[in-house]
Amino acid sequence: MNGIIVRKLANPEEVKEMYPLSETQKTAVSNQIKALEAILRGEDNRMILIIGPCSADNEDSVIDYISRLVPVQEKVKDKVLIVPRIYTNKPRTTGDGYKGMLHQPDPGAKADLMKGILATRHLHMRAIEETGFACADEMLYPENYQYLDDVLAYVAVGARSVEDQQHRLTASLISAPTGMKNPTSGDYAVMLNAITAATHPHTFIYRGWEVDSHGNDYAHAVLRGYTNKHGEAQPNYHFEDLLRLSEMYATRQVPYPAAIIDTNHANSDKNPLAQPRIIKEVMYSMRHSTEVAKLVKGFMIESYIVEGRQEIGGGVYGQSITDACLGWEKSERLIYDIAELVP
Ligand code: PEP
Ligand code: MN
Repeated sequence: MNGIIVRKLANPEEVKEMYPLSETQKTAVSNQIKALEAILRGEDNRMILIIGPCSADNEDSVIDYISRLVPVQEKVKDKVLIVPRIYTNKPRTTGDGYKGMLHQPDPGAKADLMKGILATRHLHMRAIEETGFACADEMLYPENYQYLDDVLAYVAVGARSVEDQQHRLTASLISAPTGMKNPTSGDYAVMLNAITAATHPHTFIYRGWEVDSHGNDYAHAVLRGYTNKHGEAQPNYHFEDLLRLSEMYATRQVPYPAAIIDTNHANSDKNPLAQPRIIKEVMYSMRHSTEVAKLVKGFMIESYIVEGRQEIGGGVYGQSITDACLGWEKSERLIYDIAELVP
């Protein structure tokens, strides 16, 4: 082995015993999941907003951010369902850089995975306890998902993971709505294959066990833009992109064909200030086609307290250390604007 074993980690059962959910917290998670499922089934016309920082780098500023969403959610509750993003594991294009709270609970210190496992669970539980929001996270590592499977209301499979069989099979085991992103190449078929796999039952190996999954009826698409062969960001939120996805869904046996539009990443070419314009365009497209209106169930928005981004150690409270985000004032305004546009 080209490396050393550092230590054995506590398994998910042990960690859940150390930090169990209260009955109130369990109810908050299941209510949030039920609300999301009703929207994905088309029985509730509200828009889903998965909104928050690119990475959850600091417990206090993330809780501060999510607490600000509480009164906003109350004001728009008939039009919008907010699911805060608490992204605790970050995929890195070259493997270098901050890999999220799971690896580095203190972004300025060296990796500590045991501390990271506890920190991510603690943060998700604190969000539910203090704000009532059960939140979203990315399943970057299928084997770590079980540490959080009872606290999450929404799971994303990222652009770099969506073609991977272990992610697809594990997604079929998840009992919360799961967004499968288009791959960085933009190929819709890869994403639809991932959704198909996630909705089906499978028998496979998971954390040393043979398991039978039932299939995840609420696996759906997340469009995040893509990169062409010249390395240039290309959007996939325009009217034709949405119609095309709706047509391609029609050839698949997927229980609830749906899409969430990620308005940052390659869709904004990493310009977070483009997000309000992108959302308004998509909502305009929804008015022009019943297919598009049926397909689009919401948005994924990168937003934090302070606009933009900084390097690790930059010292700005509530500013992203990964992708640049929309700041709080513009985000709040945007949520009200979206609520007004929901028919
Ligand atoms: C993200 O949501 O921050 C992210 C890393 O997304 P993607 O997998 O689309 O790059
Ligand atoms: Mn991001």
